[in-house]
Amino acid sequence: MALKEDVDTEKHRAMIKCPYCYEILPSEENLRCPHCLQFIIDTVIRTDFPSLDKKHCLFCGKKILLEAKICRHCKRWLDEIEQAAKDIDPEDLV
Ligand SMILES: [Zn+2]
Ligand SMILES: [Zn+2]
Repeated sequence: MALKEDVDTEKHRAMIKCPYCYEILPSEENLRCPHCLQFIIDTVIRTDFPSLDKKHCLFCGKKILLEAKICRHCKRWLDEIEQAAKDIDPEDLV
């Protein structure tokens, strides 16, 4: 069984990150992300390393994590833009 592994992982405890803005969460009991203020209804992200890559929010221009789906500054969802970008035929841009 995986019981022994669970004990071993305590040495380097995996970080938990918000599934929306990908910022690190202080504790797993969070019902609401303190960064993007979203209620966490999806499962949190578990990882051993922090996100380092940043991008600029398309709405407010501030730096957010590359994986972020929501801007922690202006609280706007970035999916809308990505969705719109998908609708554009790349050949139209040539
Ligand atoms: Zn968040
Ligand atoms: Zn923003």
